[in-house]
Amino acid sequence: MYVLPDLPYDYEALEPTISGDTLHLHHDKHHKAYVEKTNELAEKAGLAGKPLEDVVREAARTDDKTLFNNAAQAWNHAFFWQCMAPGGKACTGSLKAEIVKTFGSVDAFKDAFIKEGVGHFGSGWVWLVTGSEGLKVISTHDAQDTLVKEGLFPLLVCDLWEHAYYLDYQNDRKGFLKAWLDGAANYFFGEQQMFAADGKGDGFRYPAPSAPGGGNSKDAPGEQPRA
Ligand code: MN
Repeated sequence: MYVLPDLPYDYEALEPTISGDTLHLHHDKHHKAYVEKTNELAEKAGLAGKPLEDVVREAARTDDKTLFNNAAQAWNHAFFWQCMAPGGKACTGSLKAEIVKTFGSVDAFKDAFIKEGVGHFGSGWVWLVTGSEGLKVISTHDAQDTLVKEGLFPLLVCDLWEHAYYLDYQNDRKGFLKAWLDGAANYFFGEQQMFAADGKGDGFRYPAPSAPGGGNSKDAPGEQPRA
């Protein structure tokens, strides 16, 4: 069974960037539903007990769209919660150096991230990723994620689905993205991900599923996603 991971902060901790009402709805309703559906479908597909990362990749490989959508959304949201911190965590250190090298400045990176997010039609996600060509801003549609994109390793993501911002920003996706980058984004987490992509430390992993009949299958971690 895959758990719904708790938020790594209080529901009100990201205010005023993201309201407690939005986080309650987003985590307790949307994310929870994806996890519950994943539990049901992974069981049917004979994948229950596998690391969620493996379930996402296997569902993509076998073109099991419903399982993919739910498992990937379960993973994406757990990753997204880690990409935020109360008040945000400043862009410093190695990540800042890499961002400046790639985009020219932190502000230019933010402009690129906002432009990609605003230009993305419909639901999806906007990512800062690293790969063989260095840092890149990309967006993905619906539940699509970097787990199934060869050679890309996620550093940060922001949710572009309307449920992520409509209560607080209505149709102003640009205002949401700007506020998110300045007041919620956890660049420290992004830097840790960047180190992990270089083989230094562990990247984000979804909590290991509990084995059928109880207990925890943490003795059987799956393959580590690598850039
Ligand atoms: Mn969402």
